[in-house]
Amino acid sequence: MKIFYSEAHRKHFPAFEVFDGGKRVPYLENPDRMDQILKAIHKTTWAEINEPNDFGLDPILAVHDKEYINFLTSCWSEWLDSDPEIASTPEASVFLPATFALRRKTRPTKSLHGRAGYYMMDLSACIVAGTYQAALASANCALTAAEFISHSNSAASSFALCRPPGHHAGKDYAGGYCFINNASVAANWLSSKGKVVILDIDYHAGNGTQDIFYERNDVLTISIHGDPDYEYPHYIGFADETGAGIGLGFHKNFPLPSGTNDEKYLSTIDEALNMIKKFAPNYLVLSTGMDTFDGDPLGKFKVTHNGFAEIGTRIASLGLPTAVIMEGGYANQALGDNIVTLLEQLK
Ligand SMILES: [Zn+2]
Repeated sequence: MKIFYSEAHRKHFPAFEVFDGGKRVPYLENPDRMDQILKAIHKTTWAEINEPNDFGLDPILAVHDKEYINFLTSCWSEWLDSDPEIASTPEASVFLPATFALRRKTRPTKSLHGRAGYYMMDLSACIVAGTYQAALASANCALTAAEFISHSNSAASSFALCRPPGHHAGKDYAGGYCFINNASVAANWLSSKGKVVILDIDYHAGNGTQDIFYERNDVLTISIHGDPDYEYPHYIGFADETGAGIGLGFHKNFPLPSGTNDEKYLSTIDEALNMIKKFAPNYLVLSTGMDTFDGDPLGKFKVTHNGFAEIGTRIASLGLPTAVIMEGGYANQALGDNIVTLLEQLK
């Protein structure tokens, strides 16, 4: 299996993040996640790791707002310019706003913090010096994985080992450790070549992906996740959100209860796969989070290692060219074995 991976993710390693209640904790979406996955990948005989190609900004700007991308490009240097004290110890700082824009009543303002609260949805998408470069390289991994399956005429799969992840980033906002929506950029690129489905199996609702394709009927989006009634991102991902305009009926959320086990999860996967078969896509983009794992510090599901093998087997039975895009997963010790087990079914 072709795996696309860039070391550029190491440039993005914020010193901390802020949890509910203002608690400062080490950044959970850390480079060690990739090291654990690479360690597990290196033990296999079938993995071929490649650098991604550089697609330039056009396929990213086809999904994301230009002013938002401009903000990501410059906010770190603007932040350092704004305060000599921060500039003297940049490694101790992360760039975050303290005020967030309430959507649909607001506009971005000229000030750095006015733009920050507008283009960021929470306190987890900490920005440091290398964040934008890491996010671009991550998007290129997804695009290269998409390009690979578009050239293949059989049910080939590829794996984009993306970091930072992408599915919480919307057209014009960062959030949930995500800056550029890698899966959406890849799916939008593929959509000029055929019908695409994005199946999001990360534990958290793929709010950014939902927002980006909500009014489109050429890309079916499906997300299986912890019910937003109790889980992040809280305000989106409900069952009655099914698309709008010509996109009505082309989005599906499966919000599941806390404690969801293999049996419940797999029966939901089967429902999703039936929807996909009816849509008859040419390509599958699989937003793959491993935080459904029993023991993940950010999840409340009970999916097991064997459960991931079965999820992979059932998805592989679609027989579709599949670009697997790495999203979340924070039980670092188990992360490598879990993703490799899933990939083994799709290789
Ligand atoms: Zn997640």
